Amino acid sequence: MKIPRAISNLTEAFERLPGIGPKSAARLAFYLLRAPESERQILGRAALDLGEKIQLCERCFNIAESPVCKVCEDSARDASVVCVVEEPLDLLSFERMGKYKGFYHVLHGVISPLEHVGPENLKIAELVDRIGQGGIEEIILATNPSLEGEATAMYIKKEIEERFDKDKVKLTRIASGIPIGGDLEYADSLTLSKALEGRKDF
Ligand SMILES: [Zn+2]
Repeated sequence: MKIPRAISNLTEAFERLPGIGPKSAARLAFYLLRAPESERQILGRAALDLGEKIQLCERCFNIAESPVCKVCEDSARDASVVCVVEEPLDLLSFERMGKYKGFYHVLHGVISPLEHVGPENLKIAELVDRIGQGGIEEIILATNPSLEGEATAMYIKKEIEERFDKDKVKLTRIASGIPIGGDLEYADSLTLSKALEGRKDF
């Protein structure tokens, strides 16, 4: 029997999500088929709202509900320090930890030739622009301790050192409290706080 288009479309949409295989995708689609109409509406509306209500902060590229995100709006923060992270979820991990009081810059990925992601696909030029505007004294490179994360940190270091004086902008890298190949997103607050405190010149 051929699966009706409405079900196979939804199954395929779920399959494109990270961590969802074909079996889980089919299970989710059939679950929604049986679920009350209200549940389908909540899910559909919530997915649409992401596109309509969430934008990227024009300064740090964090998720935001207005042109500038909540972190960048906070004038009590230390504007001389910027922590560079891969994803908004990493920023949220730092915020959960609650000890970091500087600003952020979200790259939205890492350099990955295998996945055809080059520096031009990330917010690296925007970071260089931000530094060029002045006022930033330290850049903390907090990409993940993976091959791609390290390569991205090295690339950013090169870009910054080519353009800015070393004693004007200090580069640091978070300490390796995070296991190699680990993910900042899942690091507990203590590990993350130690990694931040133990950051070294890079
Ligand atoms: Zn922001």
